[in-house]
This record gives sequence, C-alpha cells and structure tokens, in this order.
Amino acid sequence: MQFTDIAFDIEKVRQDFPILHQKVHGKPLVYFDNAATSQKPKTVIEALTTYYEATNANIHRGAHYLAAKATEEYEQTREAIRDFLNAQSTQEIIFVRGVTEAINLIASTYGRANVQAGDEIILSTMEHHSNIVPWQLLAAEKGAHIRVIPLNEHGELQMEEYQKLLSPRTKIVSIVHASNALGTINPIKEMAAMAHAVGAIFVADGAQASVHLPLDVQDLDCDFYAFSGHKVYAPTGIGALYGKKALLEAMPPYHGGGEMIKDVSFEHTTYNELPFKFEAGTPNIADAIAFRNALEYVSSFGKANIAHYEHQLLQYATEQMLQIEGLRIVGTAAQKVSVISFVVDGCHPNDIGTLLDTDGIAIRTGHHCTQPLMDSLGISGTARISFAMYNTKDEVDIAVRSLQKTLKMLR
Ligand SMILES: *Cc1c(COP(=O)(O)O)cnc(C)c1O
Repeated sequence: MQFTDIAFDIEKVRQDFPILHQKVHGKPLVYFDNAATSQKPKTVIEALTTYYEATNANIHRGAHYLAAKATEEYEQTREAIRDFLNAQSTQEIIFVRGVTEAINLIASTYGRANVQAGDEIILSTMEHHSNIVPWQLLAAEKGAHIRVIPLNEHGELQMEEYQKLLSPRTKIVSIVHASNALGTINPIKEMAAMAHAVGAIFVADGAQASVHLPLDVQDLDCDFYAFSGHKVYAPTGIGALYGKKALLEAMPPYHGGGEMIKDVSFEHTTYNELPFKFEAGTPNIADAIAFRNALEYVSSFGKANIAHYEHQLLQYATEQMLQIEGLRIVGTAAQKVSVISFVVDGCHPNDIGTLLDTDGIAIRTGHHCTQPLMDSLGISGTARISFAMYNTKDEVDIAVRSLQKTLKMLR
C-alpha cells in the first residue's frame, strides 16, 4: 500500500518530539501508546520552561507586570481552545484537569440540580470508566437509573436501541465521541439531536476525538464537550470543558474558593461570572499556557491533514496485522480513529505487551478503563496499538515483525 497526499514532512515532525529519539532495551523507541497519552513537541516543553523562567505569577488579581502577563497568556489559551472547538465564546470554555474532572463537574453541578428519582441517564457499552462512575455516583445519590446502548458485532452503537431507550425520563445522554478501546467514531451530531428531541442534554467525551478529528461544537450541537490536553500533545493535568452558556449560567458552582466568587460574606456569597464561576483556586497556569502551543502546533498542520495521514497508517497496519494467523482485531467499525485493539488465540495480551517492549515497542494491554465493554465482548482485555501524527509506516513494519516473532514464542 502506497501512502498518498501526505501534507507534511513526517521526518521534520519527528524532529519536533525529542523523546522519540532514544533507545529502549537497545532498540529505537516505537511509541504506539498514544491513546493513553501523546508525546510533547519542543514548543510545548519550551513553553513550560519559559513560563517558570520569565513569567511565573498568580493570575487575575495581581497589580504587577508578571501577574498581568501570566493572566494574558492564560486567557490566550482559553481563546485558542474556543477556536479549536469553534465555540461561540470564551465564557463557554472552562479549564479542568481533563475529561475525568470535566465529567465529574457536569455530574455534580448540572446533574445534581436537574436529575431526580426515576430519571434516566443514557450511556453506551463502550464508555471509559470516567464516563461511567461519575454518573453512577449521581444516580445512586438521586435514585436515578443508568441505561446502556448496546453495540453491534463491529463495535458500533445500535442506533435503533438508542432510539428505544430515549424517553421523557431521559435527562442526560453522555457518549464517547471516539472510543479509546475500539477506535469507533460515534455519530454524536445525530445522537445529540435525538437526545434534544426528548428534552435531554448531550455530553460528549472528546478525549480521543480531539486529537484525531476536526471539531465544531456548534455544528455538533453538543451541550457539553470535554477533552484532555495530554492526549493532544499538551501537558498532563490540564484540559477543557465546553458548555453552552445558558446551561453554565444556570448551573450551581462546582468547587468553592477564591476566584469563583464575586462577593463573600458569612451571610451570603455571590458567584463570579462565566467562566470563572467554575475555576476555584489557583489553577494549573503553566500547563494551561503550554496547552496553547500544543493546539497551535496541531492547527499549523491542519487537523484534516493529520487525520488523513493517521487514517492511512490505520489502514496499512490493519492490513498487515490481519495477515498474522490467529490475530483478531476488536473493533471493526466503518468509521474509526487510528486505534487498533487486538487479541490473539492462545496468547495473553499482557505477555504480548511485555515482549514487544523488549523490542522497544510501547503498546497498551488490558481493559483500557473500559471493563464493561470487555465484559460484553467476553474478554478480559486486548493489546492496543494507537497512532499519532509522528508515527511512520516503517514503525508499523517493525511492530508487525516483532509481533510475528513474539507470537511464535508464545504459542
Ligand atoms: C483518556 C480518556 C479519558 C480520561 O481522560 P483523563 O485525561 O484521564 O481524564 C476518558 N475517555 C476516553 C475515551 C479516554 O481516552
């Protein structure tokens, strides 16, 4: 298979990622664990150093030069995120630690205020634990119920079953945009419209989609969209939650403390305007600032161009891996991001991962924080290869050769 129309120079991209140029167990590192976290380009690493060397100050209230500079840079990232998601206003962008915190925020604020006994929350079988457990906590507190959309044999949502689950009791539908365990891209625009038709809100977990797909929250018409910086080439510990302004305005705050207030007295406290109402305390300033460098890095190549390249990697690797006897790919949806989960007859995924590591190849094995999905498939876990924009066809060949050798040893 020949790769076509690659809009950027992969070797040049690789030069931007210092961590890739090292040996692991004496072999050149092949990093195929991007769905867990991506590596960081120099521009992001340097932004962190520059911040601490030249800018560090607490934001929003300082009267001095550094405080103003740090505040400006922090708010520039909010604008970069708004642009990345095509949200209407920066008031709709809340800094969080990542998807996990974002979903807990929605469940604790919107959820607590709007979900009552007997109400229903719809999730799907392929959700990440971070899009299950916060809703279970809410459901247990309120006496609400969780309903689950099943999958077909390709790992796609059964949309007729989703339609049947929707009712006036449905208050929240929360669905992963692209699955970290299967790669499946879900039709969230259509799903949001279906949720709205019964008066429910729609939450999207964009942890995987954010790095692989062009996004437009206005077009998708999601009520909330969450993503984590560290999967989009930004640092750990920073992420963003988009929420429609009218919903955010009506929601109670999440954490209480400094920054989220307008006036405080022991009798009565009023809250700050959006988005600060949801940002109590000193935030993760440095990582938020470097987040912008990551988003600008991605945008400089064009997300559609990156997606096109990653799709070719996905197709090529899928073809090569299907030639390995006894290997089965888990997740064969028509629309996929560049994630390949697989199992091999007679081999434990952990053993495959450990042996590939001895060849310098980093993959992930296990349940991928999707235990209900694994249970529904009747397996304990998979081995998973996931690509980023800096991965190459040569690396796929190296991994396939190592896999063939590994399987001979294991079987
Ligand atoms: C990684 C991931 C999460 C959790 O993200 P955190 O950054 O750990 O909060 C949630 N959903 C999906 C699909 C993921 O891939």
